[in-house]
Amino acid sequence: MSIVFVISAPSGSGKSTLVRRLLEQDPNLLFSVSYTTRQPRGQEQPGRDYIYVSRAEFEAAIARDEFLEYAEVFGNYYGTHRSWLERARAEGKDLVLDIDVQGASQLKSKVPDAVGIFILAPSRSDLEARLRARSEDSEEVIRRRLQGAAREIQDYSRYDYVLINQDLDTSADTLASIVKAERVRRFRMDGEVRRILATFG
Ligand code: ADP
Ligand code: 5GP
Repeated sequence: MSIVFVISAPSGSGKSTLVRRLLEQDPNLLFSVSYTTRQPRGQEQPGRDYIYVSRAEFEAAIARDEFLEYAEVFGNYYGTHRSWLERARAEGKDLVLDIDVQGASQLKSKVPDAVGIFILAPSRSDLEARLRARSEDSEEVIRRRLQGAAREIQDYSRYDYVLINQDLDTSADTLASIVKAERVRRFRMDGEVRRILATFG
């Protein structure tokens, strides 16, 4: 069974950077590429970072019940296509979802075993500095993202792990450790233990 890792963070906390590093070092992870109605940003590539669609296309997919979860975030739709779960299972990989807190709670009701990881910057001023350093958003968008952050942080108790992203290398190590530890949780090891026991005859 694939493990579903749900990673959420207020925008600018460093989640994309950490997820990118995690995927580079762990070939057994598959990234769920979301659908969005927002425009591509910076170095983003269609199909790799997001699948960019119009509002009409997104709403048609909602009507066809194609999303495992979806939400409207900062005026745009974002959603996870159902096919990712099937694809991860077929490839024998664990799935990484980078989704917001609303999507994470929808997901948790459909996949109760999903592992939630909440990432946050050490303070508001760090978050603001990172949003500006990324220099991909207008002042208006940065203002809205900062306003939304406090509300999102209040939802942290729905997650299993909290990662305060101070030093990037340390955070990347911690994230990789969470993934490794989850893979050896006792309830996921029953089959392996039975196999080993069988070798004792
Ligand atoms: P998110 O995906 O959470 O919106 P990004 O990964 O785009 O955030 O990171 C926002 C900015 O902060 C980027 O410029 C990134 O290089 C920078 N950043 C990420 N992690 C750290 C860190 N630990 N310390 C300082 N800057 C960071
Ligand atoms: P951004 O525009 O910065 O890429 O993403 C804005 C927010 O939307 C982030 O919190 C990100 O995690 C979230 N997001 C991205 N994809 C999805 C998705 O498929 N579903 C939901 N619910 N949120 C998503």
